[in-house]
Amino acid sequence: MSILVKIADLDLSNKTVLIREDYNVPMKNSEIAEDTRITATLSTLKQILEAGSKIIIMSHLGRPEEGRHDETFSLMPIAKSLSDHLGMEVPLIKDWVNGIEMSQHQIVLCENVRFEKGELNNDDELSRKMAKLCQIYVNDAFATAHRAQASTHGVAKYASISAAGPLLINELKALTKALRKPAKPIVAIIGGAKVSTKLTILEKLFEKVDKLILGGGIANTFLKAAGYEIGKSLYEPNLVKIAEKLIRQAEKNNCAIPLPVDVVTGENFDENAIAKTTSINKIKKNDIIMDVGPKTIKQLNEIILKAKTIVWNGPLGVFEFKQFSQGTKYLAKAIATSNAYSIAGGGDTIAAISKFKVEKNISYISTGGGAFLEFLEGKKLPAIAILEEAARAWAAMEKAREL
Ligand code: AMP
Repeated sequence: MSILVKIADLDLSNKTVLIREDYNVPMKNSEIAEDTRITATLSTLKQILEAGSKIIIMSHLGRPEEGRHDETFSLMPIAKSLSDHLGMEVPLIKDWVNGIEMSQHQIVLCENVRFEKGELNNDDELSRKMAKLCQIYVNDAFATAHRAQASTHGVAKYASISAAGPLLINELKALTKALRKPAKPIVAIIGGAKVSTKLTILEKLFEKVDKLILGGGIANTFLKAAGYEIGKSLYEPNLVKIAEKLIRQAEKNNCAIPLPVDVVTGENFDENAIAKTTSINKIKKNDIIMDVGPKTIKQLNEIILKAKTIVWNGPLGVFEFKQFSQGTKYLAKAIATSNAYSIAGGGDTIAAISKFKVEKNISYISTGGGAFLEFLEGKKLPAIAILEEAARAWAAMEKAREL
């Protein structure tokens, strides 16, 4: 693994540390549904505080429209949760970009970074302002490391010192070790709703895996590309052509893509929708595919049990609704039963793993979704690349100081 500056390398007395966390937790009715991403950061926050620094935390939540305050995506529930867990008040700061007044030994949480214009396009001026808030910038948000944005990338260019937090370092170590020489056959399962961000990644995965199981909106896009009626199901019309190309490419790479043979549909996307199991060639115009069916589950089970390495990102169906949760549930159980080395990642995948209580039988659970997939692809993650650059500059500075 490359050299990065760690918190343990730094003098933290009387400093202001700006730390980028990933508190993009699953929410339900404006409450935190699952708080692993918060609790995982507590020991680092305590460590920095005890070493004598003030802490400013940045994070995003959801996908709000940029440049506008939207209460739905406010980090207020996170500030409350942090205050409870740490036993001290962690105020939420709405106007933070131009400076924050803080007392000694304080932790503050900045309001959703995505409310700031310039966050998404890595704006230079916003990045400089963020860097001005601190003496030390720490990135501990592996799940956003594939994005070059102001709070994950730009700020690290301008902060005096930019370091990697322990969660990020642990992720890099574990994934590097797990993926160095994966045992074959390798099976990847890619599901979920973020079709556009995941579909292009599949192109690279074909070259590395023996079987690719698709679920959710991604499977729907492939079913459409294969000529099936998919009714009102979630899919990405602009990507059907790419899916067609990927199907052909997979054939060339000897990678099988077992598309669903049956599915569970509803007529409306809600908790009370009536579930109907249907063969894949009998979908009606008003149907919404929300899960894979029992025959598909059986087939997938057989594939999973023969695998030696399993990589999983994204649920097979709308597992939040009980009647559409069976595919994801049986997939989770099959992975847990298999003897393969299994790696799973992504916010909703973690939520599914926890819902079906299989944490203990998954070999490694990554906090990253997109970042995890891009790492798998062999891409250099921009937020890591900039921390490496900062580490080289820091090492040169330390050396000069020693002379
Ligand atoms: P992702 O963040 O891309 O992993 O997507 C996770 C979300 O995909 C979950 O909230 C699921 O409810 C949703 N999902 C899975 N399958 C479907 C489907 N067939 N139609 C709509 N949403 C789905």
